[in-house]
Parts: sequence; C-alpha cells; structure tokens
Amino acid sequence: MARYIDAVCRLCRREGEKLFLKGSRCNTQKCAITKRAFAPGQHGSARKTKLSNYGLQLREKQKVKRIYGVLERQFRKYFEIASHTKGVTGKVLLQLLERRLDNVVFRMGLASSRAQARQIVRHNFIFVNSKRVNIPSFLVDKDDLVTVKSTEKAAKRMKENMEMTKDRSVPTWLEFNATEFKAKVLRLPEKQDISSQIQEQLIVELYSK
Ligand code: SF4
Repeated sequence: MARYIDAVCRLCRREGEKLFLKGSRCNTQKCAITKRAFAPGQHGSARKTKLSNYGLQLREKQKVKRIYGVLERQFRKYFEIASHTKGVTGKVLLQLLERRLDNVVFRMGLASSRAQARQIVRHNFIFVNSKRVNIPSFLVDKDDLVTVKSTEKAAKRMKENMEMTKDRSVPTWLEFNATEFKAKVLRLPEKQDISSQIQEQLIVELYSK
C-alpha cells in the first residue's frame, strides 16, 4: 500500500497550521511550525500570495487528507461513498474518516498520533467485536467493541502511550474503559466531535466541479 514517507512537518508548514502528525513532539518548542511558520521549499518564506477560490478548496482537501493520513485515491473513494449516502455529503465524508479504526485507536488515546495508531492496528494489537482486525481503514459501526490484545506486552505499550496522551479527552461517541483499554461505539461521530477546524463544504465544492 502506498504511503507518504517524506518529513511530515513539511505537511504542516505547507498548510500553515499544526496538524499534529507527530504526537507528543507537536506540543513542544521543537515543532517546525513554531520554528519556521512558512511554507517549505526554497521560496517558501517569500511566497505569500492570496489564494483563489480553487486554491482554498484544494488546500482544505489536502489538509484533511494529511490529518487522517489518507492518500488521494482513498480520499476520493470516501467522497464517492459520501456523495451516494443519504445525508449532507461533507458531514458523511468526515464521519467516514472518523470511523476509521486507526482514528478510533488514536481517539481512545492509545496512540500519540494517527501514524502510531495505524502501526498498532497493523501489528495485530486491535480487536473489533473479539475478531482481530489489522486493517487501519476498517470502519467501525455503532455498538462495535474495540479492544486490545490481552497480553502483558500490549498492556505495557498501551499504558506508556496513554501516559503521553493523558491531556487529551476521549470523544463522547466512544465509551472508553481506560483500565481494560476498550471502547464501545455509542453512536456515529458528528462534526462537533472533531477537534480540527475543517471546512468540509470547500472539499465538496472542489470535487463537485
Ligand atoms: Fe506538525 Fe507536529 Fe511537526 Fe509541529 S511537530 S510541524 S504540529 S507534525
């Protein structure tokens, strides 16, 4: 599966805001946005042009893809599903992204970033309704139960990760049991459950051209 392997801080600098892609490092003085708050590249600091409508739409789409660690093809697929689903397309699109298993593990506080959450899923640490699921893009549904492999090694790793994420709160659509590292999906996520500022309408406009 294709994935982005370049320096992730460049992505934040390109979008001009913190996307929190590196976990605990993002809240320190080492954050690249704190040190160099301009676009990457040779002319990054000089380039300050006003964005066109299309530019704004494109940047918003890129930002959301980067937050959730999804590449163009898969993101487009989510949009296609959202546009054929009953409801407001932009909201359904965000809901699909939030329902990804790697995002759920991240939201539970079991990983400091979505990239780390993806690795946890890939390494067979996560079960959904008692079945092992190692596909980060797996979509959870209402009433699903997400649990962690019951081994000492897994518990130790989750405890360490939770120590790093203790300042983050678990969204209310998940009922999280911190001692057993498990969460029940109480309902599907809504726009207000998403902490990042996202203008999903811009993405819908971009893809509807
Ligand atoms: Fe983005 Fe985190 Fe890097 Fe800062 S440290 S630029 S928030 S990934």
